[in-house]
Amino acid sequence: MNKGFSSGVANRRAGMGSAMDAGSFRELRDHMEAKGIRLSEGLADMDFETVRALTARAERMVELFPGVKEAFRGIDAGEHGADAYAGARLSGIVGLSPENIRSMSQISRDYERDVQRGFHPQGTDAASIMVHEMGHMLEAAMVRRAFPGSTPADERSRSAAWRHGDEAGRVVTRALNRVSPGWQERPREALVQIRGVSAYAAQDASETLAECISDAFSNGRRARPLSRAVWEIVRSELSG
Ligand SMILES: [Zn+2]
Repeated sequence: MNKGFSSGVANRRAGMGSAMDAGSFRELRDHMEAKGIRLSEGLADMDFETVRALTARAERMVELFPGVKEAFRGIDAGEHGADAYAGARLSGIVGLSPENIRSMSQISRDYERDVQRGFHPQGTDAASIMVHEMGHMLEAAMVRRAFPGSTPADERSRSAAWRHGDEAGRVVTRALNRVSPGWQERPREALVQIRGVSAYAAQDASETLAECISDAFSNGRRARPLSRAVWEIVRSELSG
């Protein structure tokens, strides 16, 4: 059940040839391009060490969930609301906010404050911003599997499922059934499980899934039961 689910995943380097070995934006871009992941030129204007650390997390997530490549296409620079570090689109792009991501020390400070007030899971760090967004890419990949066609009707179905968080809802429901059987009769139990992950996880099903993935990535077996269940369910669907 816990296959492939070890603690300290976040700190394990991918070995030779990982994104962290890149010495410049150009090297990083070429390295990722070879893996079919495009980095937009706008990222070149952002702090290189920060972009590299975040890109390395995306790379690690692709290794852990190869099926995410069915959705994830690249990273670009763009704004995503006043307070957001980043955003994810069904088209397969994760956007980083130049306004809110200025340096490693700045996002580490800001993110740590978010963890302290319970907004993000304990044990996650600033680079978890990318793990969270990759959680949304996992959902995008599941949406594409649910509606694989290429007709306008299929596209409308994908957009609606993405907007409503249908696939995230399906996964979170299955995870709750595992950790809290019978929770439908005791809805408060579900909320306690979700709020145990983080305050942001309580926003909607998509954020629940993304925060659970971030918690499980950083904390492994010490992550919340709901996070471990979500991780295992998504792994079983998108590990190949
Ligand atoms: Zn999110």
